[in-house]
Amino acid sequence: MLSFDIRSLESQAAHVDGRLDTDDPVWEDGDVRPTTPIKVEGRLSSAGPSRFYFSGHISGDTAMACRRCLIDVGTSVSEDAHFIFSSEGDDSSDDPDVYPFDPNAHSLDLRPAVRELWLLSVPKFVLCREDCKGLCATCGRDLNEGACDCAPVVTDSRWDALRSVRSKLT
Ligand SMILES: [Zn+2]
Ligand SMILES: [Zn+2]
Repeated sequence: MLSFDIRSLESQAAHVDGRLDTDDPVWEDGDVRPTTPIKVEGRLSSAGPSRFYFSGHISGDTAMACRRCLIDVGTSVSEDAHFIFSSEGDDSSDDPDVYPFDPNAHSLDLRPAVRELWLLSVPKFVLCREDCKGLCATCGRDLNEGACDCAPVVTDSRWDALRSVRSKLT
């Protein structure tokens, strides 16, 4: 559960120990989803009128395709989380850490903030290993499993002429 009753939050801070499921409706098409539910732990407390503050941690696992050879690589994400929730529209618009919530709502939902932090925290790309040789551009063979029979890519000789001009200039 990542939803908290606002009335009771106003009188007492909540201990958060929840999960954001891999198939939660908060996920959108194109999101890098976790492969296991994201753990969300921390403390949610009132921070003045119509403001709440969450301080804690999120962690989870995901799988992404290696940038070079496209096999799935498991990646762990672990990130400190600090969210401010405000029902006042005015001061919240510029600050990326401030999440607006509906002043008429009865409960405060942490999921959109967790989703955003997760998406910011997953790596932009992964390699299965530092020296991954990738796939052959011609036949598609995984070159980590051995070389293929394709001819090596020949560099265009016109560039060589250009390079020699450049080397003279520098
Ligand atoms: Zn790879
Ligand atoms: Zn090849």
